[in-house]
Amino acid sequence: MDYKKIGLFISQERKAKNLTQASLAQKLYVSEKTISKWENGNGLPETGLLLKICDIFEISVNELLSGERLDNQRYKDKAEDNITNLLLQKKNNKQKILFSAICCILSCSVLLVCITLASFLDIAIWLRISLIIYGAIIFVFGLTVAIIYDINIGSFECKYCGKKFAPSTKEYVFAYHSFTKRRLKCPHCGKIGMCKKSLQNKDNN
Ligand SMILES: [Zn+2]
Repeated sequence: MDYKKIGLFISQERKAKNLTQASLAQKLYVSEKTISKWENGNGLPETGLLLKICDIFEISVNELLSGERLDNQRYKDKAEDNITNLLLQKKNNKQKILFSAICCILSCSVLLVCITLASFLDIAIWLRISLIIYGAIIFVFGLTVAIIYDINIGSFECKYCGKKFAPSTKEYVFAYHSFTKRRLKCPHCGKIGMCKKSLQNKDNN
């Protein structure tokens, strides 16, 4: 799929509907930055949002993913390509989630092993300190990678209205959290609560 072409198409259709990036963002419950990211060809709308966007623009998903309005014959030709690509993307998402989880587990394990070794091995104090610093560096690095991957996949579910949304990086990192939940403000109903992480993309149900 040609992200640049799709982005340009989204931008054209948005303008044709007399919508600003901000007003389209509001309709889709995403940030203005997200719209600009799509339009610059740096990403594709989540599958859950595709239908909603097409509804607003009065086009088909097939046309959106082709980055152009299509006549009958080209419509059929393009449909197959686009479906195949979407399926591939879903598979990639799953791999990213797995990668993020492995990063997280590995970096925690390295830190634990380093601390354990530093505590129980009969070694010089500078070696103990080095071991802990080494573990901490790996830990921070692994966690950063895990967060970067994790934040780009899936969404959080509001416990009050049940809608799904994606927080900003800042909100994500600084939010109080447990293993599967984060304290976030829901952009749909405005309530603040512990939101459950969902591996599904955010949607507008
Ligand atoms: Zn809510």
